[in-house]
Amino acid sequence: MCGIVGYVGRKKASGVLIEGLKRLEYRGYDSSGICVQHGGSLVFRKRAGRISALEEALADAPEIAAGTFGIAHTRWATHGEPNEANAHPHFDDDGDIALVHNGIIENYATLKQFCLDKGHVFHSDTDTEVLAHLIGEFYHDGASSLEEAVQLALREVSGTYGIAVMCSGEPDKLVVARKGSPLIIGVGSDEYLVASDASAIIEHTVNVIYMNDNEMAVITPDSMRTVTIDNVPVTKEIQQIEWSLEQIAKGGFEHFMLKEIFEQPEVVRTSLGGRLDLRDMRVQLGGLGEIVRDLVKTHKIILTACGTAWHAGLVGEYLFEDLARIPTEVEYASEFRYRNPIVEEGTVVIALSQSGETADTLAALREAHDKGALTLGIVNVVGSTIARETDAGVYLHAGPEIGVASTKAFTCQLVVETLIALMLGRRRFMSQQSTERYLKALAEIPDKIERILAQADAIREMVADYVDHDNWLFLGRGYNYPIALEGALKLKEISYIHAEGLPAAEMKHGPIALISDGMPVVCIAPRNATYAKIVGNIEEVRARKGRIIAIATEGDEQIEKYADNVIYVPDCPVPLQPLLTVIPMQLIAYYAAVARGCNVDKPRNLAKSVTVE
Ligand code: GLU
Repeated sequence: MCGIVGYVGRKKASGVLIEGLKRLEYRGYDSSGICVQHGGSLVFRKRAGRISALEEALADAPEIAAGTFGIAHTRWATHGEPNEANAHPHFDDDGDIALVHNGIIENYATLKQFCLDKGHVFHSDTDTEVLAHLIGEFYHDGASSLEEAVQLALREVSGTYGIAVMCSGEPDKLVVARKGSPLIIGVGSDEYLVASDASAIIEHTVNVIYMNDNEMAVITPDSMRTVTIDNVPVTKEIQQIEWSLEQIAKGGFEHFMLKEIFEQPEVVRTSLGGRLDLRDMRVQLGGLGEIVRDLVKTHKIILTACGTAWHAGLVGEYLFEDLARIPTEVEYASEFRYRNPIVEEGTVVIALSQSGETADTLAALREAHDKGALTLGIVNVVGSTIARETDAGVYLHAGPEIGVASTKAFTCQLVVETLIALMLGRRRFMSQQSTERYLKALAEIPDKIERILAQADAIREMVADYVDHDNWLFLGRGYNYPIALEGALKLKEISYIHAEGLPAAEMKHGPIALISDGMPVVCIAPRNATYAKIVGNIEEVRARKGRIIAIATEGDEQIEKYADNVIYVPDCPVPLQPLLTVIPMQLIAYYAAVARGCNVDKPRNLAKSVTVE
């Protein structure tokens, strides 16, 4: 999920590699490492924290400075804390194969057991180290070359990877491969560069080869060969990078927020990866392993969070009560900590936070812990304070989120809550048949999100008609009520338009007084048990001359009679609807902010991670 740089050529590799890593810093990382071939051995340094710490470590490593062949990495931890031992490169059991990796090896536990049974000794908590050992196992037993060992190992792997591998026994060879994590090869004169992101190499060359999934390249100082993981030769075209550095950083999108909105199909797939077991039709959450039995028996769940994560908590309340039949409450963390809450025996407190450092959420968690609750964390940043201080937890695996307004982390919070609710539901009362229906539907969510994103241009054009209005309402019912709150918050955060989110039926108990000529009212009205009711609410708005933007289920033509504009989302079981209905909310807010000329990625007065009370 973070950065890879590789160099094969005649220059001193370490300078190129460190400069490349610095170009990738904008992506966020927690540790870094470098490995260079020198005199037939692999010399390496790793450090937790900033790249400057790695640079300092190189001061006493003249062998690294001399090498012309190497790999480097910035890590954004997914498995194992961000410390030096877990930083990449990782090595095989004999220490003669070095590997850097972006992504997640989903079946690492099975592969690790295979290597342990063969007598391998592990030195880190990462999923990545398992792949290094597996390559080593094949290299020393059966494979005739490094590339063959890599191929054999990758055929055993499920998950995502961009990798660069080198071996002291074949000192002029670099093997790279990708599946699900980006990887490009820069073709210079007498040199090749490898990177997970063009910004790391653009200073050296604009001629690049984009690797596709399941492809591998074998690179030496004067040759490059591309094959598939199954060893079928592939011919690759050299292309020219035409983007500026800034455009590359944003993946060609105008803002990080838009990039992150469009990453959602991929990060939802990653978040489900290895957890949604469609073969045995069950949910597996490694992070909850030891406490699942306590969770199944719990009498009450309290979800605590701030801001967008609090909205994810509200969806969680519906999920846990509906699918797992566990009484659930949602508390603003800042209120929970000061109001002397009652935490009875058997209560589970779940904290949601993208960064895992949100000060109020952390304080609420400590309060809950002191009162004897079992505490869980649902966070994105591995090794963050909340991750460390909770009894157990589940990571989002959303990758670094740079835009201040949270989008993909929110969606992954919903994914994780859904997985927990289904896992508990199945163990408490849910039939295998219903569980299967939900799991299959969950697996289809990434493709369905893609279908909504395909409407982005139409949404931008539609929003242009409404942006002059300074007051908006967002209405939703049931599972979509928290999404109405989230839609309003997103719009406020980045476009500075005043907006309120409401459970649709509440409107007539007061806020209806606000509706006047042309006021935009976003109504989330997918097909579900309250569809007829929300159509009634839409009528109430129309009678007062409000303008309706409806979010409806594909095929619902009836809604066009009531709404000024309709954004369609694919059909899915009701508990999964928030995963789809939130996408138009994000796009509406984004395009409204852009149309009003706001700084989308750094909205005024807001911080990404709120580490103060
Ligand atoms: N899953 C690997 C780890 O936790 C790679 C993380 C990354 O992509 O930076 O070490």
